[in-house]
Amino acid sequence: MHLLVFAPGFEAVNGIREMLEGLGSKLNGDGRPTVGASARDLTARLLDIDEACMVVPAHIWTLWYGMLGSKSGFDALDECFGDMTVHIPAVETGLSSDPEMNWGVPALAGKTIVSFSDAHSLPNIGRELTVFQGDADYRGLAAGLKENRVEQTIEFFPEEGKYHLTGHRKCGISQSPGETRFSGTRCPECSRPLTLGVLHRVEELSHGESPSDQRARRPYAKLAPLIELLAYTMRKGRAAKSVGLAYHRICDELGGEIRVLTQAGYDDLERVGGEELATAVTKVRAGNVDIVPGFDGQYGRVHPAG
Ligand SMILES: [Zn+2]
Repeated sequence: MHLLVFAPGFEAVNGIREMLEGLGSKLNGDGRPTVGASARDLTARLLDIDEACMVVPAHIWTLWYGMLGSKSGFDALDECFGDMTVHIPAVETGLSSDPEMNWGVPALAGKTIVSFSDAHSLPNIGRELTVFQGDADYRGLAAGLKENRVEQTIEFFPEEGKYHLTGHRKCGISQSPGETRFSGTRCPECSRPLTLGVLHRVEELSHGESPSDQRARRPYAKLAPLIELLAYTMRKGRAAKSVGLAYHRICDELGGEIRVLTQAGYDDLERVGGEELATAVTKVRAGNVDIVPGFDGQYGRVHPAG
């Protein structure tokens, strides 16, 4: 299971490094040390090192490595964190879900809902993000997480995820949760077990109960990455050199990707990126998109409506 760990300073970080090495973790491997301890025990050890440390379960719906993923073995926070549950301020929705999908899950009541990059590589930094109220320091961040002082989050369309719907890729079968409830969890073509999607799992844990407290909800925006919009409007692959050049030129001129996607005016977008891009960005902002949801390891597709 993947966890995000926040530390108030380098003294705490050094303590954490020592603790992880003591548990046999290889810290210089790939940036995500594997730790031989439960999430509950790790949280207790982190708080022992410095009580200002914070732990947030990462991308909670991911099949294997998310706390509530269908293969994780946990159906609720306290099954995973036990007596440490009160010290978990927030949960990360991950690329595969948006806040609304989480609002109806009783197991998450009272926890702040946040989105971060799940970066793994440099270009992915900021692909999802949380705007907090208050000061831009550790104390402000702690208050943001613990007191739900979230201004808004910026998300992908969860349908783009590889496991949004339930399905069987080989047979080209994908199903909504309603269809699976009706026809069962085996592939109607070949009778093999279907790979259950995130949406199915979220509905499973929602129990049809009343959704979360309205006051706890925060606004969010769903965006498509600029590189994908450029690839789409330029009719090229996202790795094409001309797409990369256009990406950097537009970001340089308009003040970065987030600004391009959320704030830049139509006229500026048209001047710098052309009419098709300006239209595409405007359509995505308005949620005016065509969606083919992902399933069973196949990425979904989101395009400006044609
Ligand atoms: Zn099949």
